[in-house]
Amino acid sequence: MEDCIFCKIVDGSLPSEKVYEDESVLAFKDLHAQAPVHLLVIPKKHISSIREIGEEDGPLMGKIFAAINQLAKEYGLADKGFRIVNNCGDEGGQTVYHIHFHLLGGRSLTWPPG
Ligand code: AMP
Ligand code: ZN
Repeated sequence: MEDCIFCKIVDGSLPSEKVYEDESVLAFKDLHAQAPVHLLVIPKKHISSIREIGEEDGPLMGKIFAAINQLAKEYGLADKGFRIVNNCGDEGGQTVYHIHFHLLGGRSLTWPPG
């Protein structure tokens, strides 16, 4: 989608530090890391937010979570623990309207988030 920075990362017109890629999922380092490990995992196809997700997206969501699991292992987070965050909508703190899951870890994370 035009004017979507994550679509631009998918098509390569905007640079990113990619850490995982398959035919439908991409993961890259967050530009403003909030933890020693802070990755963003996205579907390659443009979906603006969780609000657009339906049952038909089950296989895609499964792939996203399998990628998250693989990355958590690769980055040494699997045993220590980690957090997956999805911000949805303005009050949810979403700033980029291409659905993405933050994978955060490498430090003790507090709760509740701000
Ligand atoms: P959210 O607030 O949940 O929509 O998260 C958007 C995230 O995208 C923020 O953590 C930003 O730091 C991150 N971000 C924005 N632009 C880029 C970019 N070009 N490359 C990597 N991460 C980005
Ligand atoms: Zn997009």
